Amino acid sequence: MKSARLIEFGSPLELEEKRDPSPKGTEILLEVLACGVCHSDLHLRDGYYQMGKGEKLWVKDRGVRLPLTPGHEVVGRVLQVGPEAGKVPLGAVKLVYPWIGCGECEECEEGTPQLCSSPKSLGIYQDGGYSDRILVPHPKWLLDTHDLLPEYACSYACAGLTAYGALKKSLPLSAKDHLLIIGAGGLGMFAAQLLPLLTDAKVIFLDLDEGRLAKIREFGFQTVNSSEGETSEAVRKIVGPKGVSAAIDFVNNSVTSSLAFSLLKKNGKMISVGLFGGELKIPTPILSLRSLTVRGSYTGSPSELAELLQLVSEKKLAPIPVQVKSLKEADSILNDLASGKVLGRVVLTGK
Ligand SMILES: [Zn+2]
Ligand SMILES: [Zn+2]
Repeated sequence: MKSARLIEFGSPLELEEKRDPSPKGTEILLEVLACGVCHSDLHLRDGYYQMGKGEKLWVKDRGVRLPLTPGHEVVGRVLQVGPEAGKVPLGAVKLVYPWIGCGECEECEEGTPQLCSSPKSLGIYQDGGYSDRILVPHPKWLLDTHDLLPEYACSYACAGLTAYGALKKSLPLSAKDHLLIIGAGGLGMFAAQLLPLLTDAKVIFLDLDEGRLAKIREFGFQTVNSSEGETSEAVRKIVGPKGVSAAIDFVNNSVTSSLAFSLLKKNGKMISVGLFGGELKIPTPILSLRSLTVRGSYTGSPSELAELLQLVSEKKLAPIPVQVKSLKEADSILNDLASGKVLGRVVLTGK
């Protein structure tokens, strides 16, 4: 098997070749057909998240161990099945649910392994899909891709699921409500694709890149370019002086989160999603006087991912633009992501 691996935090990924693993117990070996490159892989390579004021949250303190093959948005073809894995047809093409938990805690038992306190997520705590092979611990983590092509299906495991999970938390919203979405990158694109299926609220997207905003306008949404003048005023000009009923922050740094918070109307809700890093200062009386909700959202559950794939397939949603690249380009793609050069998603083919 050939993999692009992280050997040392802060260093480029290295290509490594070794013998294919053989699945033991309930494990399944897949040939990787497509693996999405996610912005959070960048934090993994750096080894930390920014916490604001120069403080860092180190991924090694959260249990990440090297060497590691990143990649948590994987579609693969079943190559070999472990002796206790049951009946899994060889050659079947499946999407891997990567947010695996310990299997024993309350969250895991309730079907929300993404919230497990001893996470075993693929591509973060165990080897992932920047490779031509991936070992998945149990067939229950393999989902039907319906008629979706691997390069389009893979990113629903993280970017699509994260956008879906956040949008669901902003509901219910009526046609009278305004929803502000900050960030028109990968997550914003998935949100734009899914929004018409979930709500008829009036949606405004905010970003500082005109190219990304132009793509969003093709979906029929209003946009505000935050690199031009007074952003808060520009949003209020569209939504009125009271503000927005809900805000989803896919960037979630110090600037965007305080902007989103300041634009909430009474009884408004803010959903913090992005991992760009920073901090939000909230005067406590404001929360109660204005009856506000601030909450986070992290990926989604296996049943939500299955529900999402079915929805996308049934409604024949137009695919998010995808650039297909080879494994040896993995590290340079992360550099492009870091400098904000990527439009839509980049997918590795495992070759
Ligand atoms: Zn991701
Ligand atoms: Zn657990």
